[in-house]
Amino acid sequence: MSHRIGLYGGSFDPIHFGHLISARGIAEQLGLDRVVLIPSARPPHKQSVSLTDPAHRLAMAALAVEADPLFGVSDLELRRHGPSYTFDTVTEFRNMMGPDVELAWFIGGDTLPELPTWYRVAELVKIVRIVTAVRPGWSPPPIGHLAAAVGEQSAMQLLADCLRTPAIDISATDIRSRVRAGKPIRYLVPDGVASYIMKHALYRT
Ligand code: ATP
Repeated sequence: MSHRIGLYGGSFDPIHFGHLISARGIAEQLGLDRVVLIPSARPPHKQSVSLTDPAHRLAMAALAVEADPLFGVSDLELRRHGPSYTFDTVTEFRNMMGPDVELAWFIGGDTLPELPTWYRVAELVKIVRIVTAVRPGWSPPPIGHLAAAVGEQSAMQLLADCLRTPAIDISATDIRSRVRAGKPIRYLVPDGVASYIMKHALYRT
């Protein structure tokens, strides 16, 4: 039975080593038993972006972590209709896992300044520990910006939960454009993911 679980949502289009290295670094720092990757159906901040078929993104996430018992993959957001709100996802996980499990939700440093705009954010920070993966050179948003949305104490906690992870300059956008240009993506994604992309002719157009 896992007691400390990290929840890592993203479009994962495709999943890459930047995601995996950062997630593992956070898990080690927090002493997590498990990290669940949650491909997002329709991230609220990416409403206008067209994403690859969820079944492909889910399959690639599963392939990426199949040999690593730290990780699991959830299709919870893909089964839900409408925008993927973190508040709803965390509430569902909490209901599934019971009150004794510690849950942490991972975000990237670029996302922390936007957190005040998230759906039901003041309640969200009360039901899950939000952990920000911070790369070298990153500066935190002013505490007042966060405190205005979640209160002083939760804002201090958010800043305390900014954890250093290595800078891995890989993005899904770059991977998609490399595939489109016929360039290799070896060392950017796990081999199983690269094979899957080729086999299903993803990101060609
Ligand atoms: P895209 O290029 O399509 O915007 P992405 O590579 O940023 O995608 P997402 O699935 O949108 O990937 O990101 C999910 C989460 O992973 C976000 O919190 C993002 O900040 C984080 N992330 C993305 N790339 C990296 C990386 N190289 N290192 C650490 N975290 C990353």
